[in-house]
Amino acid sequence: MPSASIVTIGNELLNGHTADTNAAFICQKLLSIGIPVVSVYTVGDDISLIVRALKRAARDADIVIATGGLGPTDDDLTRQAFAKLMGVKLILDESILAKIKSYFEKRNIRMPEKNAIQAHIPKGAQAIDNTVGTAPGIYENIKKKQFFAMPGVPFEMERMLVDFVFPKLQKRKGGKFTIIKKVRCFGEGESAIAEKLGDLMNRHRNPLINCTVGGGAITLHIVASAKTKILAEKMAQKDNAIITSLLGDLIFGFDEQTLPEVVGRQLAKQKKTIATAESCTGGLVAKLITDTPGASDYFTQGWVTYSNKSKTQLLQIPPQLIEKYGAVSEQVAASMAKNARKKANSNFAVAITGIAGPAGGTEQKPVGLVFISICSDKNCLTKQFYFSQTRDIIRHRAAFTAMNMLRLMLKD
Ligand code: AMP
Ligand code: MG
Repeated sequence: MPSASIVTIGNELLNGHTADTNAAFICQKLLSIGIPVVSVYTVGDDISLIVRALKRAARDADIVIATGGLGPTDDDLTRQAFAKLMGVKLILDESILAKIKSYFEKRNIRMPEKNAIQAHIPKGAQAIDNTVGTAPGIYENIKKKQFFAMPGVPFEMERMLVDFVFPKLQKRKGGKFTIIKKVRCFGEGESAIAEKLGDLMNRHRNPLINCTVGGGAITLHIVASAKTKILAEKMAQKDNAIITSLLGDLIFGFDEQTLPEVVGRQLAKQKKTIATAESCTGGLVAKLITDTPGASDYFTQGWVTYSNKSKTQLLQIPPQLIEKYGAVSEQVAASMAKNARKKANSNFAVAITGIAGPAGGTEQKPVGLVFISICSDKNCLTKQFYFSQTRDIIRHRAAFTAMNMLRLMLKD
């Protein structure tokens, strides 16, 4: 069974400046076509370190995939390292140079002299076309091992992996196929969800069910391995159906779907519009809604009424109401949602007011207390929450919880 080893190159990966997302991406993609990654090496921009890492990787596996160090600046040395590994010189490829020049010309920019280095390829190696940037990749077969070098820029690397590397690897396949399906949940904690799944999360199962938290969701990863892609797909589908029936309304979507995207699609489908009135989230709900292209079909407008004065001036919240119950109260949240909906003339309005901290909490109203209200033309639903941890986490939890309340309201 063929296997792969990855070499990620760049000083920025070693000083904590850039997280190595390329390795994670390549691991996931290769596994999905039945090629396991057996090791990952990360090295700085240093020719001998790169050569040593490439040799080690080739000892571990049949396929070596490197990323990074193909930029035009003097610290990018992967080309030179490949030439050294192959024992050849770098030579200028005129057709690549012409391509790079035209890349700049199209953008009406003079090509900096430095970029000419990107048209140099180790003698005898194959240049890999970069359709979305200037740095070509490098491909070479050395002693029956396949070596690929791709740019570090994730977007360019991903494109090259799919367009060039995958077709080259298709012939070598023969191992197990792994299909990963994701089930995205919101509304309960990790452990509550795990409890509902029971034995499904057993570590010796195939499919294996893994759970991760982040990005406004709890994600269950169904990892199914089988001899054929069709069989792995079937196994994953079966678990997907079981999990769906066990978790019901906790599930908002699948695979790469996000909560705001799912809610947006529902709004568009039902031809409904929404406005936002935010205090402690400072516009985050509006940001989440408008992250989805086409949001103008359903998002009308948003207010960030952070001060009491702005709540009164922009949303006509009576000062007496704020005085009596406080700006962070069920009454003010409901009033913000009600008035925002009327002013925006929308079908729904979401309002959030709370104490994000770290200061500003009291015994009666601690940091993390948040009121979320959603009004439609029929009714208003206002809920009180106690979120915990940092300011950032409290604000995100509040915004995603509001999106989830709206999702459930749209279901009814
Ligand atoms: P390079 O090909 O070395 O010029 O890389 C260009 C940029 O891509 C770097 O400045 C990083 O921001 C990014 N990059 C490089 N390697 C990685 C990696 N392994 N994971 C994520 N981003 C990376
Ligand atoms: Mg670099």
